[in-house]
Amino acid sequence: MTRTPSSSATGEAPAFRGASLELSGVSLAYGSFEVVREVGFTVEPGTTTCVIGPSGSGKSTLLRGINRLHEPKSGEVLLAGEPASAMAPERLRQRIGLVFQHFNLFPDHTALDNVALAPWKVKGLPRGQARERAARALADVGLAERAGHRPRDLSGGQQQRVAIARALAMEPEVMLFDEATSALDPELVKGVLTLMAGLGERGMTMVVVTHEMGFARRAADQVVFMDEGEVVEKGTPDEIFGNPRSPRLRRFLAEVL
Ligand code: ADP
Ligand code: MG
Repeated sequence: MTRTPSSSATGEAPAFRGASLELSGVSLAYGSFEVVREVGFTVEPGTTTCVIGPSGSGKSTLLRGINRLHEPKSGEVLLAGEPASAMAPERLRQRIGLVFQHFNLFPDHTALDNVALAPWKVKGLPRGQARERAARALADVGLAERAGHRPRDLSGGQQQRVAIARALAMEPEVMLFDEATSALDPELVKGVLTLMAGLGERGMTMVVVTHEMGFARRAADQVVFMDEGEVVEKGTPDEIFGNPRSPRLRRFLAEVL
């Protein structure tokens, strides 16, 4: 299911220009302990890949390897065909946004300032322009009216939206999500997942580590199942959920579904 970047869930929201992301033979280790082994998959521009698998299977480490928060031991990551290893890490992290489970907003800054900070301090935009861009990013995640609120005056779901806006304000070509809804109260999960699905529909390239199998089924173009640091199986949601082949994937699905 490849979507055209011009299609939009709301009709109003601007489209993104997601880039391709290609991983081949990516391995990552903590010291001599290899936790990600020879991982390879391709994420086509504007598509969503969901990464699923048991706790400890290396999903977070893999995401951190993609934007070099953790330097891969070997293998290659290509962003829009360019080797990530040849880019300055700061530049790479502007082009590939990462949203974590814990949003780590600055408690004493408003939502707007939280979002404006990186475009101003990291990207070097004049402060006014950074704030304009931040206002647009907040509008993009449905929080235009909350721009002046501090994190403590926002729900967990709204705080996570601010964190997503903060990543979007850097105009990334790819967005990575690491269990972005795992810390949220159950009633707040759906709104954030709907927002994430909307970004995908608007053409963002996304890699989403998630325990939300319903989301993976609905929103993914490709699902990658990892276990013990390796990609055990990958395919369309129909293949992965409807016709799992490996015993390990079958066992995992029996536990989570
Ligand atoms: P997942 O996100 O799938 O739960 P992780 O990438 O967090 O998996 O962890 C993969 C493996 O790496 C686990 O065995 C975990 O214990 C180990 N690990 C994670 N972080 C560290 C660290 N900082 N130092 C050493 N081992 C780690
Ligand atoms: Mg993890």
